[in-house]
Amino acid sequence: MFTINENFLRLNENYLFTTVAEKIKQFSSEHPDANIIRLGIGDVTLPLPPAVIKALHKAVDEMAVKETFRGYGPERGYDFLLEKIAENDYRAHGIDISTDEIFVSDGAKSDTGNIVDILGENNMVGITDPVYPVYLDSNIMRIKERSITNSKIVFLPCHPENNFLPEIPKKRVDVIYLCYPNNPTGTVMKREELKRWVIYALENKSLILFDAAYEAYVTEDDVPHSIFEIEGAKSCAIEFRSYSKNAGFTGLRCSYTVVPKELKTKASNGTYVSLNQLWLRRQSTKFNGTAYIIQRAAEAVYSPEGKEEVKGLVNYYLENAKTIREGLQEKGWTVYGGVNSPYIWLKCPDTNDSWQFFDRLLNERHIVGTPGVGFGPSGEGYFRLTAFNSHEKTREAIERIKKWEI
Ligand code: PLP
Repeated sequence: MFTINENFLRLNENYLFTTVAEKIKQFSSEHPDANIIRLGIGDVTLPLPPAVIKALHKAVDEMAVKETFRGYGPERGYDFLLEKIAENDYRAHGIDISTDEIFVSDGAKSDTGNIVDILGENNMVGITDPVYPVYLDSNIMRIKERSITNSKIVFLPCHPENNFLPEIPKKRVDVIYLCYPNNPTGTVMKREELKRWVIYALENKSLILFDAAYEAYVTEDDVPHSIFEIEGAKSCAIEFRSYSKNAGFTGLRCSYTVVPKELKTKASNGTYVSLNQLWLRRQSTKFNGTAYIIQRAAEAVYSPEGKEEVKGLVNYYLENAKTIREGLQEKGWTVYGGVNSPYIWLKCPDTNDSWQFFDRLLNERHIVGTPGVGFGPSGEGYFRLTAFNSHEKTREAIERIKKWEI
C-alpha cells in the first residue's frame, strides 16, 4: 500500500478561514435578510488599476500574433520587470539590488511556503506568535521533526507589553520569520529594532525570512520598507514582496523574492553555498514562471500612471483603517495597528475568547472579523479587522459597533 506524507496529519485540522466561512454560511442560512459586513479575510475589494488593465490587454493581443507570442519565460522573470523592480523598489531608495538577485513568482504565499525546500531539517526556527499561518504550516508539512509542540520551533510571543515585537530569543534560532508591517497585528518594526535582528542574525549566522507583503502601507519615516535598508542584511536575509495588497493582484497573482548573492552558508562538506543558486535551482525545477501577461501587468505598476493609481488604492484602504482605528478608540476599545497597515488588531472588549467575540459580533452586529487565536495562542483574546471594504460599509460597521451595548 502506498503511504502519504504524514506530516500533513499533524497540521491543524481546519484552516482558519474555512471555519470562518462555515460560520458565515450557517448564520446566513438562518438569517437570510441580514446585511453582513465583511471585515474578515485579507483580500482586496477594489478593481485593478487602469494602467494594469491596459497592460494586460496589450499583452494578451501580443500573444495572438506569431511575432510577439511568448512561450516559457526566463527562469527568474522577464528583464523588463526585473529592471523595474531593481530600479523602483530598491535603487531609488539607495539599496543596491541587481536583477539576478530577484525571482518573480506567483505569490508571496508560494515563496514563503516553498522556501523551506532549500533549508535544512535541523534548523531551530523562530516564528512570531500570532503569525501568518503559512510559515508554521509549511515547516510542519515538510519536516518530520517539526510540530507545534516540538522544540525545533521557537514561538516568539508578541503582545502589548513588548509592542508586538518579538524579543531576541534566549535559545539560539537558525531561521527567523519576520513580517512587518505585520499580519495579523498591523504593527510595525522600526528601523532600530530591525537593526537589532540583523545584528543578531549576523552574529549567530542565522537567516531572516522577511515578509514585506504590506510594505506599501508604510506611512511613517522610521519604519523600513525593506530589510535591505539595514546594513549587513544582504548577508543574512531573504525578502518577500507581493503585488497583492498594493496593486490588487490577489486574483491576478504576482510577487517576487529577493535572495542576495552575498547570502551564503556552509554545507556539511565545509563548502560555502549560495542561497541564490539554491533558490534558482528550486524554482527552475518546480516552477515554470509567472505568465508573460501577468509580468507585463506587474510592470505597469511602475509606470507613472500605475504608481499614482496604486497610491490611490493603498490610500483608500488606509482611510478605512483610520475609520476603524479611530472609531473603536472613541468607543473606548483598545486597538493596535491600522497606521502603517490595512489591519487593526483589537483587544476583545468583553471576553478573553476570540471565537466567542467573533460569534457575538456576527450575531449581534452582523459584522465578520477574524478571531486572533486563529493566528496563534498569543492571539487569544484579540481580534483582527481589515480595511479591505468600501468606505461606506466600513463606516457603517463602525456605526453599528458604536451603538452596540456590549
Ligand atoms: N504574506 C503575508 C503576511 C500575507 O498576509 C499574505 C496574504 O494575505 C501573503 C504573504 C500572500 O500574498 P500573495 O497574495 O502574494 O500570495
